Amino acid sequence: MSERIGHWINGQTAFGVSSLDGPVFDPATGRESARVAYANVQDVDEAVANAHAAFLDWRVTSLALRTRVMFSFRSLVDAAKDELADLIAGEHGKTKPDARGEVLRGLETIEFACGLSSHLKGENSQQVSTGIDIHSVREPLGVIGCITPFNFPVMVPLWMVPVAIASGNTVVLKPSEKDPSVSNRVAELFVEAGGPPGVFNVIHGGREAVERLIEHPDVPALSFVGSTPVARSIYEEGSRQGKRVQALGGAKNHMLVLPDADMDLAADAAVSAGFGSAGERCMAISVVVAVGRAADDLKVKIAERIRDLQVGPASDPASAMGPVITREHKEFVESCIGSGVEAGASLVTDGRLIKVPGHEEGFFVGPTLFDHVTSDMEIYQREVFGPVLSIVRVEHFAEAIELVNRNPYANGTAIFTNDGGAARRFQREIQVGMVGVNVAIPVPVGFYSFGGWKSSLFGAHSIYGPDGIHFYTRPKVVTTRWADPVHRGVDLGFPRNT
Ligand code: NAD
Repeated sequence: MSERIGHWINGQTAFGVSSLDGPVFDPATGRESARVAYANVQDVDEAVANAHAAFLDWRVTSLALRTRVMFSFRSLVDAAKDELADLIAGEHGKTKPDARGEVLRGLETIEFACGLSSHLKGENSQQVSTGIDIHSVREPLGVIGCITPFNFPVMVPLWMVPVAIASGNTVVLKPSEKDPSVSNRVAELFVEAGGPPGVFNVIHGGREAVERLIEHPDVPALSFVGSTPVARSIYEEGSRQGKRVQALGGAKNHMLVLPDADMDLAADAAVSAGFGSAGERCMAISVVVAVGRAADDLKVKIAERIRDLQVGPASDPASAMGPVITREHKEFVESCIGSGVEAGASLVTDGRLIKVPGHEEGFFVGPTLFDHVTSDMEIYQREVFGPVLSIVRVEHFAEAIELVNRNPYANGTAIFTNDGGAARRFQREIQVGMVGVNVAIPVPVGFYSFGGWKSSLFGAHSIYGPDGIHFYTRPKVVTTRWADPVHRGVDLGFPRNT
């Protein structure tokens, strides 16, 4: 019998009343490694009730104590990074160095949250009118529903949870059902760090659990990261229910290479950003836009590097790239490759042919390179979310900018060039939320905020950093008059500042 993974409610493992569960696979072997409990409405209500009760105390817990908990949480996550990386690799399939890297990026947002006493400072103006002072504070919202995708099972929850909690809220996290274990361990570390039980809860499951979080009256705000169709529907439904929603969606990230770029640097970057984590990163590069004579050279250099990439399980330290997440996803990626071939793109390397000895049932797709892709092809238009890189050739820089700006997704983009003027023009004209100049994966550090534009983010707030603090708090502005010796009598006119 497989191990059954439970929820984490009020500081302990709970299996809930629902008897439903679903499989968790080791993507490298294709075998089921565990079952995970699927929360129903009652289970979600139980988690929210605990989170709400904890909120009543946590919101008035002093900044000093909250800061101490966050520092201690930071130390424990740091100390556990290898253990967390092993848990990620076992259920997601990414290599251990890559998994450790995601934990380190998650740590950055805990570090930002450790500065909560500065971030939550209000403003104060004296004598704004005669005898009148004004000050503003930011107050927490309550129980935050956090819904996260499979591809970063530690980093994305840590984009949300530390900032939400530091701001005085409590959370119910609903991570991906595909790699659920590590969320429970991170929530457990929060309790070990001295965080009160009930502040950080985890429930597992799928649509039913998410829908209950969306409609629950004690959940005033939702942070979502995942695919665009789900992001859009959660944004629309949550907003209709009067909630604050930030919903980050999918991506199709372009990397422009101008003919004057350092072609070795560009090829290294395209391969790293295209095939790292088997292309299952929301900031992965999936389209290389080669301008003018850049294309031929670049194609050869990318293909050379692909030949040297070792694909295999995370348990083999020599593996540079692991499997994709599920058998269905492997089939989807392979069907996308098929559609590119049918549409007439030229297939330079074909990842469908990969064989990993001893792991024949694993969900492996090899690194795939297409050249001569055009914007009317399905392989260009779909978010493949796998190890498939497409080269689109354009004549001019302006054409490249227009291509990126026409795309409905606008998460990240990059330019590779040695021309400062071209880079400046790109940065100013491009309609994308996160831009790299000779940096292929421009994920902002923890004290900035992360967010795309257009179909890559629904809502007014990016995630973590200063936008995170704003999203998880609301302002209160207090106007005060004390001991004014002058009694002015009744005046029905609108208050004037004098
Ligand atoms: P997904 O949308 O399938 O799932 C995300 C979460 O939503 C999971 O917790 C899942 O259980 C839940 N969910 C799925 N279908 C639902 C439904 N119909 N109703 C309610 N909840 C539902 O995404 P995924 O496959 O786990 O992750 C990959 C996607 O996430 C890609 O599109 C990727 O680009 C995107 N992503 C975006 C960012 C970003 O920052 N913009 C970051 C990481 C991943």
